[in-house]
Amino acid sequence: MLTGESVIIIAQLRMAAVLASSPLLGTAACFPVNSERQSRGRGNADLNIRRHFRSIPKLPSIKIRLSGISTGIVSVVSALSFDGQPGAAGEVTVGDERYWKSYAWSQNKTPRICIVGGGFGGLYTALRLDSLFWEADKRPQILLIDQYDRFVFKPLLYEILSKEVDQWEIAPTFTELLANTNVTFIKDSVKAVSAPGQSRRENGSFASSGDNTVGTVLLESGTRVNYDWLVLALGSESKLDFVPGAAENALPFVTLENALEVDRRLTDLESERSGLDKPIEVMIVGSGYSGVELAATLSERLGKKGKVRVVDAGSDICSSAPAGNREAAKKVLSSRNVDLVLGYYVTGIRSSEDSSTSSPENNGSASTSGSSRYSISLKLVTSRKRSDDSHLEADLVLWTVGTKATVPSRDLDTDYPAFPVNGRGQADTDEFLRVKGHPRIFAIGDSASTKDSAGRSLPSTAQVAFQQADYAGWNLWAAINDRPLLPFRYQHLGEMMTLGRTDGAVTAGFVDLTLDGFVAHSARKLAYLYRLPTDEHKTKVALSWLAKSTMDTIALVQNEVTKALKPK
Ligand SMILES: Cc1cc2nc3c(=O)[nH]c(=O)nc-3n(C[C@H](O)[C@H](O)[C@H](O)COP(=O)(O)OP(=O)(O)OC[C@H]3O[C@@H](n4cnc5c(N)ncnc54)[C@H](O)[C@@H]3O)c2cc1C
Repeated sequence: MLTGESVIIIAQLRMAAVLASSPLLGTAACFPVNSERQSRGRGNADLNIRRHFRSIPKLPSIKIRLSGISTGIVSVVSALSFDGQPGAAGEVTVGDERYWKSYAWSQNKTPRICIVGGGFGGLYTALRLDSLFWEADKRPQILLIDQYDRFVFKPLLYEILSKEVDQWEIAPTFTELLANTNVTFIKDSVKAVSAPGQSRRENGSFASSGDNTVGTVLLESGTRVNYDWLVLALGSESKLDFVPGAAENALPFVTLENALEVDRRLTDLESERSGLDKPIEVMIVGSGYSGVELAATLSERLGKKGKVRVVDAGSDICSSAPAGNREAAKKVLSSRNVDLVLGYYVTGIRSSEDSSTSSPENNGSASTSGSSRYSISLKLVTSRKRSDDSHLEADLVLWTVGTKATVPSRDLDTDYPAFPVNGRGQADTDEFLRVKGHPRIFAIGDSASTKDSAGRSLPSTAQVAFQQADYAGWNLWAAINDRPLLPFRYQHLGEMMTLGRTDGAVTAGFVDLTLDGFVAHSARKLAYLYRLPTDEHKTKVALSWLAKSTMDTIALVQNEVTKALKPK
């Protein structure tokens, strides 16, 4: 065994408790050593040494990987992990490409529910589970995992740009939201998931474990979470890779970070152009809800200082929206001089500052920092199907077209999804929201594919995710208590859009009625206030909005009085 290019010794040791709690080992476990990746090559062999320390109960075991013996070099100890489960032997992997530290559930007797993704699907499922009545021996331990420390109420992200809301109002921290619950939150990123019945092999892939009740989630930090039940709610992400230069030169508008970045770039442009007779040009790619709501918000914010254009391949804006919403949006966009460039495909985006290295052809990577202007290549599609290249320029390009569902891989080294997915990459689910073939895994929200009772695919909306969370919570309760599960029934409540600080459109789902203007704007905000998580947070936001609208009204009255008193 010592004659290969490198030799790996994996030793599982039961160590003294005092060693397990050693700060030194604890620190080492937090910092994987990347150099080990290079030392894993062909010819490595694993020896599993389980001896000497077995008799000491409840102590972590150790895996040691040594490589490069043939060259006389023993590689750096790279990975340590401890299994924190009561009664279970911990595992310290030394020399593996990663280390795995098991998440320590408080005990092993009650069900362990792991929820990945703390958005509309995940957070609301956690809150629903926490609110249900449980017998003491069935009350589950609930763990919520998200890559960020804040829940984001995405439909109100536009209000960051119009300055109608503060960040804390639409993006409260999980710690604050879960303070009075039995839900534990950890901030980490999900890297791979194995379903119950699969276990991780040394090479990072999964094999059958024979245990059909326990699955595993692997996290970026090196933590391994063993679960009995899983809720997959990782949402979706923007897809900028299908047009050359889009990823480098355009900004998506999907996360809180995206919204803050767009706000920062606009603020920079506003201060750069202050006093200059040079409008800020914004190009929005896509005229669905997101593109149109952004156009309305930005054209209002920039006023005469800016020019907003919306480009879309279709012949009309918001093509899938109710006619009432579409007409209200068109009226507002036209009153704010937004240009609708319809019937065009965007075929490439390049920064004019760096056009020699960034072009639609070579997919170059121009910097988006500073005040670069972007020249946008458009392909004109005419009714005679002739193509013609046109160019437009802008200071800022916002990309709202296309998303892809986030379903983790089942393997660290490949993108092979952990679960069966449909053509859009969403996990396939049954009528009870369980992933097909995996009765202990529920998938909801944007990352799941669900159909309504007529067999139509449901859209990726907060409304769907929110309603699914209610069913997922209930069905988990039912499954744990051996009760019948409820088939998911979607109720379409209507569609709402913001069109700036005082405009909006709302079409109800149950009657043919569209509201627009200030009434719609206020109705939408009230509906979203009601949907915000937890009563404590709702109350804080309600008071904050009340205070702001009182201040706005006082300012308005003051303005009017000053105007009236001004000598003519
Ligand atoms: C700007 C904007 C406006 C919108 N407006 C509306 C609207 O008006 N009405 C409507 O119904 N819908 C709207 N939507 C859509 C709606 O927000 C989504 O459909 C909804 O958020 C989906 O819920 P979800 O739980 O599936 O995903 P999300 O709410 O996106 O939550 C997913 C969570 O998973 C986390 N996550 C992702 N990957 C990982 C990982 N690898 N590890 C750990 N955590 C991870 C994310 O951080 C996030 O917190 C809007 C979306 C956007 C972007």
